[in-house]
Amino acid sequence: MSALRIGVMGGSFDPIHLGHLVAASEVAHRFGLDEVIFSPTGEAYHKAEDGRAPAEARYLMTVVATAADPRFRVTRVDIDRPGPTYTVDTLADLREQFAVERPDRSIDWFFITGADALAEILQWRDVDAIFAAAHLVGVTRPGHALADPGLPQAKVSLLEVPALSISSTDIRTRVRSGAPIEYLVPSGVANLIAKYQLYGHARADRGH
Ligand code: NAP
Repeated sequence: MSALRIGVMGGSFDPIHLGHLVAASEVAHRFGLDEVIFSPTGEAYHKAEDGRAPAEARYLMTVVATAADPRFRVTRVDIDRPGPTYTVDTLADLREQFAVERPDRSIDWFFITGADALAEILQWRDVDAIFAAAHLVGVTRPGHALADPGLPQAKVSLLEVPALSISSTDIRTRVRSGAPIEYLVPSGVANLIAKYQLYGHARADRGH
């Protein structure tokens, strides 16, 4: 029996937006993945002061955004592990979980994230263990090249995703200034942002 092909989509998802969902769908298609597991990062203490959403809110938005797609699920491994999120731990925890959940199948792992984040992977903790554990897929907007030429080409793939012109930073700025975010995030995510005033501004038309 052939190996299951599982993608792990790592990110802060602050907030999750349609670019992330299109990217996961595109990688699943191109790499023949059976499933994509979204893994929101744990609490980033260095980012906490500049209007970021708490980990539980980012987790909730990710669950709501992915709920309707049978190819997608969300894991809490990075949220529940104390301390900073290291990808080597993300992959180890999920491998352990799948050894129990799917003992009958071997698994080929793919770690998917933004190419900007991936460009710094040579500085990440236990990078050799990451390369041994998974194939890396960097998703990027068109015309945005991966910076570090030292990455092992056989272990890293890059994929241009036009929808990634949407960015979480831009969405947070738009919320703060009262600009609309409809059609940039799933409607359930827009509702959660408004309901919990996640980025510091309540839209008048959402009934607060
Ligand atoms: P970030 O610095 O917040 O994001 C850098 C850029 O990549 C942003 O433009 C961001 O756009 C984009 N991006 C991030 N995740 C993406 C995704 N899944 N799909 C598409 N674009 C994405 O990066 P981060 O979110 O903190 O970290 C990304 C992943 O790398 C996480 O899983 C994290 O744990 C891992 N990481 C690991 C280490 C380590 O092991 N030492 C170090 C750094 C990062 P948006 O803001 O629009 O998403």
